[in-house]
Amino acid sequence: MIKPFTPQLVYIEPGALEYDLGRELKEKFTKMGLEIKETTSHNQIRNLPGKNDFQKYRIAKSTLVVGVRKTLTFDSSKPSAEYAIPLATGCMGHCHYCYLQTTMGSKPYIRTYVNVNEILAQADKYTNARAPEITRFEASCTSDIVGIDHLTHTLKRSIEHIGKTKYGRLRFVTKFHHVDHLLDAEHNNHTRFRFSVNADYIIKQFEPGTSPLDQRLEAAAKVAEAGYPLGFIVAPIYLYSGWEDGYKVLFEKLHQKLPQTGRSGLTFEFIQHRFTKPAKKVIAKNYPMTKLELNEEKRKYKWGRYGIGKYVYQTDEQEIMKNTLRSYMDKYFPNAELEYFT
Ligand code: SF4
Repeated sequence: MIKPFTPQLVYIEPGALEYDLGRELKEKFTKMGLEIKETTSHNQIRNLPGKNDFQKYRIAKSTLVVGVRKTLTFDSSKPSAEYAIPLATGCMGHCHYCYLQTTMGSKPYIRTYVNVNEILAQADKYTNARAPEITRFEASCTSDIVGIDHLTHTLKRSIEHIGKTKYGRLRFVTKFHHVDHLLDAEHNNHTRFRFSVNADYIIKQFEPGTSPLDQRLEAAAKVAEAGYPLGFIVAPIYLYSGWEDGYKVLFEKLHQKLPQTGRSGLTFEFIQHRFTKPAKKVIAKNYPMTKLELNEEKRKYKWGRYGIGKYVYQTDEQEIMKNTLRSYMDKYFPNAELEYFT
């Protein structure tokens, strides 16, 4: 059983105390008896405890920084949304293939932003500029926001805010089952709540520190009962000995656990496993015992943004995995939509 995240160490930027949420969090963490330090900026956080890089990395991943989001220009977030909404960065999970390992570099601690009203006002500007087109915001580009939201309720506020807008939509994905506080949010069908799922073997091998599959599915059932538009991201799709059966069991379980209410408007996204050369180095450093196969010669090279190409599966393997998973989806969820395979 994965318990809701409690940070081992909390840093508070003084600017955060100018906001209600910053003060509330300080009070909450003080009452919880957590070690709290002040820092002028998260960039000043040096000398996190730990004897070596391996330990420092783990301690950083259970350190929470309460700060103010200064950059209010949102990144784009294709293919799942128009913009990434920055509510937090970092994650306490230890998925071996997590993209944050490379994007967050030497600062893997978790940051939550207390200037939520400013962030949401900026989202409104983007939405108004595109109206009457719908504008979708992805809240999980830089963190697993559900995993920390029981502490901050930032996501809950965002769900309710976007619920009131006419043309804004919110979406996020999680590997955690701590969803109870979000069930009564007034989402107004404007938030698509997605769960990241995978074959049980993959979750057990490569996703330590996240909720087991069965708990994610129980949470998905609750979210469906709460009337949220629901989705599943099957990612990363990874070819291992017995993968066809592993993914078949996954779809059977989804079929068994999901109430009828969750089936209309259900979406799937399929993302194959990929890695970059820099990611391979970081994975070897942070998870030296991993069984993750990262052999460039077996993969196909795909040019990427900023000149950093990625290694994906060969074209024929991609076709097989896409068609196989698609056949399971069509069998168990004939009315669901596959948004993309990438
Ligand atoms: Fe990364 Fe998501 Fe795993 Fe967190 S849960 S470590 S964000 S892949």
